[in-house]
Amino acid sequence: MASKRIYLCLAHMSGNEQKYIQEAFYTNWVVPLGPNVDGFEQDLQLFAGENKHVVALSSGTAAVHLALVACGVGPGDEVCVQSFTFCASSHPITYVGATPVFIDSERDSWNMDPALLEQAILDRKAQTGRYPKAIIPVALYGMPYRIEEIIAIGDRYDIPVIEDAAEGLGSRYKGQVLGTFGRYGVLSFNGNKMITTSGGGALICPDEEAKRKIMWYATQAREAYAYYQHEAIGYNYRMSNICAGIGRGQMTVLNDHIRHHQHIARLYQEAFAHIDGITFHAVPSPDYESNYWLSTIELDESLKVANQEEAYSIAIQGAVGGAAGVTRQSQTIRTECQPNDNVEALRIALDKAGIESRPLWKPMHKQPVYRNAPAYTNGVSESIFLRGLCLPSGPMVSDEDAAYIIQSIQQSIIR
Ligand SMILES: *Cc1c(COP(=O)(O)O)cnc(C)c1O
Repeated sequence: MASKRIYLCLAHMSGNEQKYIQEAFYTNWVVPLGPNVDGFEQDLQLFAGENKHVVALSSGTAAVHLALVACGVGPGDEVCVQSFTFCASSHPITYVGATPVFIDSERDSWNMDPALLEQAILDRKAQTGRYPKAIIPVALYGMPYRIEEIIAIGDRYDIPVIEDAAEGLGSRYKGQVLGTFGRYGVLSFNGNKMITTSGGGALICPDEEAKRKIMWYATQAREAYAYYQHEAIGYNYRMSNICAGIGRGQMTVLNDHIRHHQHIARLYQEAFAHIDGITFHAVPSPDYESNYWLSTIELDESLKVANQEEAYSIAIQGAVGGAAGVTRQSQTIRTECQPNDNVEALRIALDKAGIESRPLWKPMHKQPVYRNAPAYTNGVSESIFLRGLCLPSGPMVSDEDAAYIIQSIQQSIIR
């Protein structure tokens, strides 16, 4: 059965990507500006709505970075960021010399807990005399955050919200797409995201002036002289016309991709409703429309998985996602915070069956690199991390694949 391997979310070139890339070559527009960049930004603009202005960038990480710069975040400032996230939400806070203040999650969406956010804001004010300079909620695995409450808190203390919708492209809250509620909205087109430009990102901006400022920062902050004149520090963060060509093609299949991810999620949800000890992470209410970028499950601690006694007996070779050559050799097999043995045993069993699965993102407040950062916690993200697993969800996952994955999971469970 396992003759091919089933991945979490493989890129799928199913639009007219090639046409746009070829045009870029024929017309010699291969630099970080040109017709594809303009066209891709127009497509994104249509997606975000007429009140918004979108800049295409070299990565989602760059988009987070420039949103912080545009919000005036600098050395000595603090930024409230969801702890349960990929490092690209919080690392750029350190790039600008500021300190992340990690906010734990609430149980329903797995995203930023608004009550804890407000508590953190008040406590930071009491401790440092100043309010944090920005708030970054994250649409983890595509699930919308409690955006109305988060925006209301931001407004109450006059703190801008930067939505990290990198995983939530096309997800909606009450019908409105994520990334368009806050002052800025971050999108990612990395190779494994909902759509890809090979690597890339975008920043949804509130107005034309903000867009111009982001473009200026993204092209080394050049002043209008015949020679290079620099009065501010800029970055080389624009998207190339080649990548934007892929993006234009991918935009034509974005809705197909979203529907496919949602369809695969439904298959899992129906199946796991009948399997004791496994809970599918579904939207908390009809107000939330997740793109289900990745389908995720939680395993009860009491669930017995074959070979779980040996779950952490061998060291992992290579990185999460098979990124060969980009990891250091680990010093230890275990860390002080890791998925439960049954989760790791299931991951290994699926791997042997030719199925890629992955632990949930380890909360940033549990990461050694952030050991000194303030954190406002309630135990929620840590407990979900210990029990959770991401399952294959992308455009290359067929109905037969989903059935095979569900069957493989059932076979590893000991009743
Ligand atoms: C992917 C991702 C980003 C942006 O990542 P890039 O790879 O730089 O495009 C930001 N935040 C989250 C939560 C992500 O998953």
